[in-house]
Amino acid sequence: MTHDARPHATARRLPLLASPGEAPPRDGRDPTARRTLDEAGALRARPAWFDAIPGQLADAQGRRITYLRASITDRCDLACVYCMPPEGERDHARRAEQLDFDELARLIELFARSGVRRVRLTGGEPLVRRDVVRLVAHLRARHPTLALAMTTNATRLAALAGPLREAGLDAVNVSLDALDPALFHTITRGGDVTAVVAGIRAARDAGLAVKLNTVLLGGVNDEEIPGIVDFAWELGAVPRFIELMPLGEGARLPQARFVAAAQALAPIAHRLVDEHLPGDAAHGPARYRHAADGSGRRVGVITALSDVFCGACNRLRLTARGELRACLASPDGMALGALLRAGASDLDLAWHVHAALGSKAAGHGFLDATRDAHTRVGMSLVGG
Ligand code: SAM
Ligand code: SF4
Repeated sequence: MTHDARPHATARRLPLLASPGEAPPRDGRDPTARRTLDEAGALRARPAWFDAIPGQLADAQGRRITYLRASITDRCDLACVYCMPPEGERDHARRAEQLDFDELARLIELFARSGVRRVRLTGGEPLVRRDVVRLVAHLRARHPTLALAMTTNATRLAALAGPLREAGLDAVNVSLDALDPALFHTITRGGDVTAVVAGIRAARDAGLAVKLNTVLLGGVNDEEIPGIVDFAWELGAVPRFIELMPLGEGARLPQARFVAAAQALAPIAHRLVDEHLPGDAAHGPARYRHAADGSGRRVGVITALSDVFCGACNRLRLTARGELRACLASPDGMALGALLRAGASDLDLAWHVHAALGSKAAGHGFLDATRDAHTRVGMSLVGG
């Protein structure tokens, strides 16, 4: 491959890329994406040198891509204060715009052929998508060895955990920002923690591996941390604490809500071994510490701001409309769903994935004061 033929060099010149300041189309494609088909909606030919689906995807920084987070809906039955506006998101995909299960399966197949080993179904809230159990069964039947997980708020998990496990789901990460019912209700704008706890227990009983995700909200849920750790450990689950990210509604919260994980976890530090366990980048950005009692139990932290982990990033995101997002923090997307509907071959699609990867940023830039955080889209639209 010559220097000029490198995918990232070529991607910048692709005629299908809209110019940076150009308004995004409002015709049913992802309104948050700048990069899409050309004006006529035509699929541009891949270059002659791109003659095989890559067996291993890598981005412009040489990071290997092995993990796909696929949003199966951008709707949600909660409206967490850091994620969703009180009135809900305005730019939901209409049903016809959402990838259907065959489309999703075709794209996941393509990613699996390109080195992706782990797929996480997310949203919005994945359990509000009708037939989600059928989707899991369909994916499992086609990909027996793929690690298949889901991130969920668990409001509907009590009834669905067993069927999801039987369908072939391996693991769930459940959001739990408080155990106190009133505080949970406030943070989620209406959620019932009893239903969520029942969902978590059902997941454990069904044999799903369970992790709990708590977003750290300084001055709001600090006192919940010890109780969440105990609750998780009693269940055999792994608690993880996530630093608030300036995305969507999160960017509108007061500065006091942004608290570093080390500071928030200080009150339980004596219960943990000092060092972090060796990182396992293949499993994501969380870093873990063992319990000091030698039980082998763990606590995880996702230090999006206090200790940036982008150097080991191995992931891509697919929105419910089928936009490929190379980075959570970037508004750039590649309209894979539209390409697929325009008749793209697998090789055409693979080329566009390759091109999108060419512009994957080295880091999320959350701390870059010159970038306007308010333009970053909330996690429920991108796929958290
Ligand atoms: N609805 C599901 C859930 O809540 O688990 C899946 C989608 S949600 C967008 C995925 C994860 O993103 C959740 O763990 C949520 O807490 C996290 N999240 C959303 N907005 C965030 C923000 N601004 N900063 C940090 N984490 C955020
Ligand atoms: Fe819904 Fe999950 Fe966002 Fe909360 S974090 S509003 S549950 S998508």
